[in-house]
Amino acid sequence: MSHEKYIIALDQGTTSSRAVLVDHDARMVDVVQRPFTQIYPKPGWVEHNPQEILFSQLGSLTELIARHNLSENNIAGIGIDNQRETTIVWDPSTGQPIANAIVWQCRRTAELVEELCGNPQVAQRIRQKTGLMPDAYFSASKVRWLLDNVPGARERAEAGELLFGTVDTYLVWVLTGGLVHATDPTNASRTMLYNIHENRWDEELLDLFGVPASMMPEVRPSSGSFGETSYPGVPAGIPICGVAGDQQSSLFGQCCFESGQAKNTYGTGCFLLMHTGGEAVESKNQLVTTIAASAPEVDHTEYALEGSVFVGGAVIQWLRDELGLIRTAAESEALAREVPDTGGVYVVPAFTGLGAPWWEADARGTICGITRGTNRSHLVRAGLEAIAYQVSDLVRAMEADAERPIDVLNVDGGASANDLLMQFQADVTRRTLHRPQNVETTALGAAYLAGLGCGFWKNTSELSALRADDNVFEPHMEVSRAEELLAGWAAAVHRTIAPC
Ligand code: ADP
Repeated sequence: MSHEKYIIALDQGTTSSRAVLVDHDARMVDVVQRPFTQIYPKPGWVEHNPQEILFSQLGSLTELIARHNLSENNIAGIGIDNQRETTIVWDPSTGQPIANAIVWQCRRTAELVEELCGNPQVAQRIRQKTGLMPDAYFSASKVRWLLDNVPGARERAEAGELLFGTVDTYLVWVLTGGLVHATDPTNASRTMLYNIHENRWDEELLDLFGVPASMMPEVRPSSGSFGETSYPGVPAGIPICGVAGDQQSSLFGQCCFESGQAKNTYGTGCFLLMHTGGEAVESKNQLVTTIAASAPEVDHTEYALEGSVFVGGAVIQWLRDELGLIRTAAESEALAREVPDTGGVYVVPAFTGLGAPWWEADARGTICGITRGTNRSHLVRAGLEAIAYQVSDLVRAMEADAERPIDVLNVDGGASANDLLMQFQADVTRRTLHRPQNVETTALGAAYLAGLGCGFWKNTSELSALRADDNVFEPHMEVSRAEELLAGWAAAVHRTIAPC
C-alpha cells in the first residue's frame, strides 16, 4: 500500500462534527471541525437536528477533501466514531427523520424507565443481559418515546416503514446511499436492547420497550465492511470500514488492545474504561459492562468496564465562567502552581449529584476547609485536584471489580494537557500515567479501526509500534501524604452527601 494514502476519521461528537486526516504513520495531518445547534425544548430535554448533524459532518468531510485535493485514489478508507446512545428514527423511503434526535443527555424518559424497569427483577435481567443499569441515558426508552409520541410512528414502525439508528448508523446509511443499515457492537451495547453475551438484539428487551425488530440495524464487526460511499459531493466507492462509539474508539486509539489496559479521558466529564479481554466482568461497584472495539485479528467478543465522572474539566469551566477566577482553562495550571497545596481546601463538584462509586443523585457541590488565608490559587488548585480525586475513586472501584490493578493509566482529553493535574493524579492514585503525543485518541481509534478494516495497517502490533508517548507521570508523593489527602477528600464527599 502506498504511503500517499490516508484514512479519514469522522469524529461525530455531541457539540461538533470533525473530519480528521490521518497518514500511515498515524499522524493527524489536518482537522476540519463544524459545530451544530444544541436544542433544549424543555428543562432536562436535549435534541439535535439529524440533518444538521449530517450537514456538519459532510461539510467537514468535503472541506477536508477539497483542502488536500483528495480523491478516491488516495483515501484508503473512512472510519466513524460517534456520540453514543443518541437516537434517530427515519423513513428510508424519503431519508427523512421522523423527529429530532434524542440526545444521550436527555432526561425526558426518566419516568418511563422507572415505569418499565422499576421492578428489581426486570432491572436485574437488563443488567445481566446488557451490562447496563436501567437508565434514560441509553437508547431503548428514547426509541419507545419517539414511537409513542410522533403521530403515526408506531403504526409505520410496525409496518416495517421506519428504521432506528444511533448516529453512526444514520451516517453510514446516508453515506452509502441508503444501501447499508448497520451498526457495530460497541454502539449496539449502549442501546440497552442488545444482549452483550449472545451478541444479538434481545427479543425480550425489544418487547419490553415495544420496539419492532424490523427497525433494528444489522450488527457488523467494528473493523470491517460498512459499504462504500455513494453520496453526491463525496468521492464514490471509498470503503467505510471502521465504526465505534466514542469512548470505545478512544480505548482503541490509546492502543489498549489487551485485558487490564485502561484509559481515562479528561473532557467535560471523565470516562475511565478498562479492557477486560473476552470476559464480561459484572460490576459490584456500579460500573457498567460494555463491548470493546476489536481488531479483525480477534475472533471473539471483547469487553470493557466503564465508569464516568459527571463533572471533570467542567469544574474548570465553572471556575472560569461562574466564579471568574481564571480567564482560560489553561491558566488554571499556572495559578495552581503559585501554592504548594490547597491549604486543606476541598471542592466537591457534585453539581448534578455524584456518580460511581458514590451514586448520590441528590448530593450537591461543596467547598470546605476555607480559612482566612484561602485565596483563588487554593480554590483553583482544589478544583483541579477534585478532578483527580474523582478519577482516583473510579480507578479503585474498577480495580476492585476487575480484581487486578491498573498498572498504567493512559490519559487523553482536553484537561490531560494540564501537567499539574496529571502529576497530582499519578501521586494520589499511585499509578503511572502515560500521555500520548496525540491526545485526539477518539478520532485516532476510528482511523485505526478503518485502517485495519481495509488493510492500510496490518495488525495491532503495527499500531502499537506507532504510538509515541509525550510524557510519563510517575507517582512521587509520600504514601502517607497521599493517604492523608484521600482521607480529607472522603470526608469532604461525606459532607456533600450529608450537608451540615
Ligand atoms: P469535550 O470533548 O468533553 O468537549 P475536551 O476534551 O475538549 O472536552 O476538554 C475540554 C475540557 O477540558 C473543558 O471542560 C476544559 O475546562 C478542560 N480543560 C481544557 N484545557 C485545560 C487545562 N489546561 N487545564 C484544565 N482543564 C482544561
